[in-house]
Amino acid sequence: MIFLDRVNHHLFQPLLYEVATCMLDNGDIAFPIRTQFRDQKNTIVAMAEVTGIDKDKRCIYVDKTDRPLSYDYLILATGVQVSYFGRDEWEKYAPGMKTIADAITIRSRILKAFEMAEIQEDPLSRPELTTFVVVGAGPTGCELAGTLAEMFRLTLKSEFRRFDPTKARIILVDSGSRILPMFSPELSEKDQGPNREDGR
Ligand SMILES: Cc1cc2nc3c(=O)[nH]c(=O)nc-3n(C[C@H](O)[C@H](O)[C@H](O)COP(=O)(O)OP(=O)(O)OC[C@H]3O[C@@H](n4cnc5c(N)ncnc54)[C@H](O)[C@@H]3O)c2cc1C
Repeated sequence: MIFLDRVNHHLFQPLLYEVATCMLDNGDIAFPIRTQFRDQKNTIVAMAEVTGIDKDKRCIYVDKTDRPLSYDYLILATGVQVSYFGRDEWEKYAPGMKTIADAITIRSRILKAFEMAEIQEDPLSRPELTTFVVVGAGPTGCELAGTLAEMFRLTLKSEFRRFDPTKARIILVDSGSRILPMFSPELSEKDQGPNREDGR
């Protein structure tokens, strides 16, 4: 068996939000694929991107080369891409969260915003830099919003001089009428907690 992946690690995507919020390190959720197959002697592991398939010749092409790799059986398990629901132009403002690189991009944008807020002379410009919008109040959006709150209220609490990180705003947006719409209304209510801005 040949196992190909364009990255050299298996990624536990459910905890990407913890990398994005500095709670976990990259290595905590990414494990080398080669190591996982160390004892499976009939498996060859290689980091390569599949860039072409020829079904008639029963072969694939990798990394845009024209050297075919033949197969008897081909299993494609390439995952999914982030959907912007037809608004792909939003991608540059709101990175998706599917890879380690995405989580690090989000993390550095958050930290950079705090650094910028610290050096602003005009205090009125800070709220704009320290307001974070999470789009999508499903499990990942709720986890991300909750961990951002932890990051601002606990981790960064005493780290800045010119503003109070605990006052940073997190806005969780969803087109539905409640957060976690896939779960029961009771659970949504519980998860919403006491800190929302309508005061309930
Ligand atoms: C932020 C987030 C939170 C999640 N939380 C949960 C959760 O709490 N519970 C839950 O059950 N699920 C959760 N999921 C979903 C779960 O992670 C996915 O369902 C699961 O990872 C899908 O596994 P997969 O093997 O199909 O795809 P993936 O894990 O995406 O793996 C696809 C692999 O294919 C590789 N690949 C893609 N294209 C190519 C190519 N052309 N050539 C070579 N390699 C390629 C990629 O590098 C990748 O390693 C979450 C997902 C995300 C993004």
